[in-house]
Amino acid sequence: WQPEPRDGEAIARAAQALLSRDDWLIVTHERPDGDALGSALAVAHMLEALGKRYAMAAGEPLPPRFRFLPMYARIQPLEAFGDRQFQHVVAVDCADEQRFAPVAQLIAAQPFVVNIDHHQTNPRYGQVACVDPLAAATCEVLYHVARALGVTLSVDLAKCLYTGILTDTGGFSYPNTTREVHQIAAELLASGVQPYDIAEPALEARTLEQMRLLQVALRDMTLAPDGRYAFLLVSQEMLASCNASEDDVEGLVGFARSVETVEVGVLLRERPDGLIKASLRSKRRVDVASIAQQFGGGGHARAAGCVLEGTLEEAKRAVEAAVIAALKEVDEACKS
Ligand code: 5GP
Ligand code: MN
Repeated sequence: WQPEPRDGEAIARAAQALLSRDDWLIVTHERPDGDALGSALAVAHMLEALGKRYAMAAGEPLPPRFRFLPMYARIQPLEAFGDRQFQHVVAVDCADEQRFAPVAQLIAAQPFVVNIDHHQTNPRYGQVACVDPLAAATCEVLYHVARALGVTLSVDLAKCLYTGILTDTGGFSYPNTTREVHQIAAELLASGVQPYDIAEPALEARTLEQMRLLQVALRDMTLAPDGRYAFLLVSQEMLASCNASEDDVEGLVGFARSVETVEVGVLLRERPDGLIKASLRSKRRVDVASIAQQFGGGGHARAAGCVLEGTLEEAKRAVEAAVIAALKEVDEACKS
């Protein structure tokens, strides 16, 4: 038995596009997570196996936690490209084109874009859109692309795919964890992936600064009167006081959600540019993607994000009102 793709035609179109062109730029979303980096590097390994030319670009420093990923060091900063531009672009795990805006200057005026993703809010941009909202991770979609291309599932390619699936399912725990996910993971283990070699750096390890930040953020966590939502706020000042980096904020939102009574956990983070980044997580019922969309963001039903203007407190008031409305909506839907 082998896991089958839900939309074999879309997978075949993506594979055909990669096969029929050369000289690709691989891009993923800003502040990349395990699925973003795993996906970008998985595509690199596939193109390498096909003998194609490719480059990977990032608009900002990468999270060091993922440096175990094979070919991680090949992802280059913008400066490395001079005024070079690419005609052929593979965008992975990017819910919309804004998500790879930091590397837009590397893309030619009329590019050929292959969009491989799993966000339900993806507007299907690009000349080829291969988007499966039922896939747990973009790496799950890319597993099928690799199969369609007929490339060998080398241990390096398998490590990249496994990392995306592991991190986007929260270590095979979120409701997006399916029989297919486990079956694909089993295939990747058959290729030689050692689970703890990935899980330890990708999920378990925390920097000391991250621990301090957790301590400070939890001290000021605010809970709804009925306990059904929780907010964590992180200012630039808090980061500085903990000597923490932007990357150290990763994973913090999970603590807001994990409070027993909470349905919606929210993290509001003041970015270096002064804008407020919201991360929303829900447990079972609230569609946080639709909350994020109200503020111009997007994502998945249980994990979404958006960017707001104003102070942390102003952003909190705005998002809190939307969360309260969403909770009321699910209550009413439940009654009727
Ligand atoms: P995070 O809260 O970890 O940054 O993101 C959670 C999910 O929401 C991810 O799947 C991410 O792609 C999506 N997401 C986060 N921020 C944004 C945003 O500003 N716009 C859109 N469209 N999606 C976002
Ligand atoms: Mn993803």
